[in-house]
Amino acid sequence: MLGSLRRSSRVTLQRMEQIRPYTDSRLAGQCVYCGGVPDTGDHVPPRAFLDEPYPENLPKVPCCKACNEGASLDEEYVASLLEVAACGTAQPDELERPKIVRKLRESGALRRRLERCLTASDGQVAVVAEADRVSHVIEKIGRALWAFELGEPTAALTADVWFAAIPALDSEALAKFTLIEASDVFPEVGSRLMFRHLVVNDELYCPAWQDVQPGRFSYAIQLSGGGGTVKMIIRDYLAGRVEFS
Ligand SMILES: [Zn+2]
Repeated sequence: MLGSLRRSSRVTLQRMEQIRPYTDSRLAGQCVYCGGVPDTGDHVPPRAFLDEPYPENLPKVPCCKACNEGASLDEEYVASLLEVAACGTAQPDELERPKIVRKLRESGALRRRLERCLTASDGQVAVVAEADRVSHVIEKIGRALWAFELGEPTAALTADVWFAAIPALDSEALAKFTLIEASDVFPEVGSRLMFRHLVVNDELYCPAWQDVQPGRFSYAIQLSGGGGTVKMIIRDYLAGRVEFS
């Protein structure tokens, strides 16, 4: 599905570069999610969505323990759900990601629960079966990426979350999702997002999706007046979008 999308080059993927921005110090004093005191850090995306060896330069943001730990069960669960949905089966032997294979071998209860999701949704849109958990995970990743790219905590921002299984999108919807339009807002000076932008014919472009790990996680950010949008593709199966205002 997304393999063909990649080949048709509607999505221009760019290997993540290490950028040392000037804005990280603004983030240092607070949890990027709730604004509280940060006592730990969060990898973005959570490592549950990536395979080993993990990419170098994996984004990391400061956060509090409550925000960090409050989402980890949902993250692990959603990662398993997407693997099962993408492979169309909950049989460990037929899955691709080693981490999920191990988990489902260990937990018969989880395997049965995921099987039920698959049956309930005809193998195509299993994510719908656990919409609250998927939404929670996408919002958290979106907030972390926003903070990472713009050097701005997100506690004060309202997030509107949308997601869909990529196989359920028609080609027009998919093209619209993957399109990164020219922006009329310049990113925060010194932020990572500013360094990623290009000016072409007097128009401002964030030229590429950032490919954190091929086939596992990519994201793109687009600014608009008063806010912006974080888009992500997880496991080549889930399209997620968080609109900030
Ligand atoms: Zn927090």
